[in-house]
Amino acid sequence: MNDPASPFGLSRRGLLAGLAAAPALAASGEPVLAQAAGPRWTPQQAQAALKDAKGTKLVLLGTAAGPVPGRTREMTSHVMLSNGAAYVLDCGMGVTNQYARTGIPFSALKSIFITHHHADHNIEYGPLLIVGWIQGLPLGVRAFGPPPLRQMTDDFLRAYRQTVEFWAEDLKMTPLTSVGVQEISAPGVVMQDDNVKVSAILVEHPPVKPALAYRFDFKDRSIAFSGDTAPLEAVAVMAKGADVLVHETMYLEAVETYIKDQIAKGRPVKFEPFMAHMKADHTPIEDIGRIAQKAGVKTLVLSHLTPAIDSISDDTWRAPAAKHFKGEIIVGKDLMVV
Ligand SMILES: [Zn+2]
Ligand SMILES: [Zn+2]
Repeated sequence: MNDPASPFGLSRRGLLAGLAAAPALAASGEPVLAQAAGPRWTPQQAQAALKDAKGTKLVLLGTAAGPVPGRTREMTSHVMLSNGAAYVLDCGMGVTNQYARTGIPFSALKSIFITHHHADHNIEYGPLLIVGWIQGLPLGVRAFGPPPLRQMTDDFLRAYRQTVEFWAEDLKMTPLTSVGVQEISAPGVVMQDDNVKVSAILVEHPPVKPALAYRFDFKDRSIAFSGDTAPLEAVAVMAKGADVLVHETMYLEAVETYIKDQIAKGRPVKFEPFMAHMKADHTPIEDIGRIAQKAGVKTLVLSHLTPAIDSISDDTWRAPAAKHFKGEIIVGKDLMVV
């Protein structure tokens, strides 16, 4: 990235270098998403897309499913930027670095939302708070998610109290001692501010209860997220008429091949229970196409990719969904701006 301290102050040289590496630009000046190669955009591409953006933007910070380190895609997280305010959804490992790479200042971060308490969605929630605080996160930041989010937040801040105090005393900063948490156990409107109305529904992700899907209605754009779920009619209902649906994505045949290979290499899982879990908890691509078509969304973003391996082409991910969904289909990439 160019200069993390002045996120939108890209130098002309930096901007041009970023554009040189960027995918082709449409007449609008926005990157042509379908031509972005590889599993991730560069920070320069993301920053350029945000700098030129008119209206609300979504950045896919991490597009991989599962708590697996060391991949080219990070675990699941997103940030939405609207009218200068940032909203993070999910905090898989990598969220803090990826957020910084977008160039969005930490001071812009208003609220953090968690879909459910699997590690690939929440493991970096605490570090985002502490590192974010050092970088200017507002003390009034709020967090929303299933119980026991309040206890988790309090416990984490207690565990890191001395770490926070060292900086606070040394640098004369106001310490981050608490975060306003709202726990969500039932469907309905979660919060509303000047920019957005956020609502949630319960999804099917056993044994995790509650697991949530969210819909963000900004003034100019609506963005829905399935969270982690088995195929669910309720997701189509929630996403009805949305501009964008970000749906978790499972390529079942590739998962079978992948896990057999992992087991052969000594990974301590058993094939039958693993596949039973995947089928009960996640959504095959064909079903996503049906759900998106039923919802009538403009754009479907395939993300939380399972398996998150680079050898699967975009066309392979897209084709089964395209059988049923006639709108735009985007295969999610880390740092992609939608
Ligand atoms: Zn997940
Ligand atoms: Zn999950």
